Amino acid sequence: MINKNVLISGASIAGPALAYWLNRIGCKVTVVELSPTLRLGGQGVDVRDQSIQVVERMGLMDIVRARRVDDIAANFVDKKNRLIGTLDMQALQIEGGGAAEIRRGELSNVLYDATRDDVEYVFGDAISGIKQDESGVDVTFEHGSPRRFDLVIGADGFHSGVRRLVFGPSEQFVKFKKHYFAVTMASTPFAQKRKSTLFNEPGKSVMVQASGNGPSMVYLAFRQEEPIEYHYRDMEHQRQILRDAFKGVGWDTQNIIKQIDNDPNFYLDAQAQVIMPSWSNGRVALVGDAAHCASPFSGAGGLLGLIGAYRLAGELFAANGDHVEGFKNYYAAHRPLVLEKQGHLFTGMFVPSTWWGTKLRNGLVRSGLLKRFFGLDKPNTTPLTDYGM
Ligand SMILES: Cc1cc2nc3c(=O)[nH]c(=O)nc-3n(C[C@H](O)[C@H](O)[C@H](O)COP(=O)(O)OP(=O)(O)OC[C@H]3O[C@@H](n4cnc5c(N)ncnc54)[C@H](O)[C@@H]3O)c2cc1C
Repeated sequence: MINKNVLISGASIAGPALAYWLNRIGCKVTVVELSPTLRLGGQGVDVRDQSIQVVERMGLMDIVRARRVDDIAANFVDKKNRLIGTLDMQALQIEGGGAAEIRRGELSNVLYDATRDDVEYVFGDAISGIKQDESGVDVTFEHGSPRRFDLVIGADGFHSGVRRLVFGPSEQFVKFKKHYFAVTMASTPFAQKRKSTLFNEPGKSVMVQASGNGPSMVYLAFRQEEPIEYHYRDMEHQRQILRDAFKGVGWDTQNIIKQIDNDPNFYLDAQAQVIMPSWSNGRVALVGDAAHCASPFSGAGGLLGLIGAYRLAGELFAANGDHVEGFKNYYAAHRPLVLEKQGHLFTGMFVPSTWWGTKLRNGLVRSGLLKRFFGLDKPNTTPLTDYGM
């Protein structure tokens, strides 16, 4: 195989998963991560549908299941905390072919542990320049010395630096989906062990997840017609955006909002999608959210990153390392699933924008039809191509 010296930018889900497969096919892999350590935090990521096959082929599905969020139910409540209806989370995971919900940081840790002995990880640095020619790519870093690689892969998420350097400004690829989403650690007397509790007002949602094997996490989402200007590394401004959006919202929301200052892993981002006509440019390609973020309301960011990493390595291997052929076939193989997931958002389930929409959603919860309405009862178990890696 040719082109074995590969640099990956980003060590969250897609980056370490790709590192795993590239290492397995004999590549020499370096991963550079902006954060000084693995970034923890984030909501539960679903390992379901065909991504179960990927994680099983890595031999890691048992570890993922052992570390999964152990929720048994999601309760929908009104402002007086009275129960509207329940979604059986255990049934959902069984019907999903043994799916597991695991916190993003936890999954990142599992993938990092599976690769750290064979892959060079460089934390606290980022690519500052990329210059490619016929035979390789010269890379400069914000801190480290310049190096040359055969291929460079951007697995650096929605705000991908590799995408900006090689494909141009993000605005041309990003489609705002009229919502913002925040994750924080907070406690509330309304949390119930091993259950999620979800409260809505039109265009706002607050969900507390109090699993038995982790801290209480709160997810807040709100509808917003136009994007808000802020720097994605400016956490204080992001906290203020959330305070403003949830002013006056009922249930235990005001108590929760008071606690966001205490959480160093506080996370807020726009619900937006990345839509690109190609995921490669010469010797540089993108994987995961950098290539095709579907937004948290797709519930598919984790599975798309895992399957995409598997397909990218698999197609390179099948093409004997020929990046032109491999990158082209990776795009063709993975794009249909991306389009499907980008077109199927759960916004109406989590953040109905009107009282009427909330009533309809509540009716679906009470009647037990929510799963069917949102297509959660049909896992995709179509076998993935076996690349013989
Ligand atoms: C802290 C965090 C919390 C998240 N929380 C949620 C959530 O609650 N719900 C949800 O649906 N999705 C969340 N996501 C996104 C989710 O992880 C992805 O949708 C999915 O798992 C695909 O992952 P990815 O590896 O492609 O991208 P991401 O998970 O976004 O990871 C990108 C990685 O690249 C790193 N990075 C960024 N810029 C650079 C750079 N210039 N150079 C080097 N490294 C860089 C980041 O620090 C991060 O480790 C979160 C992501 C992060 C980073």
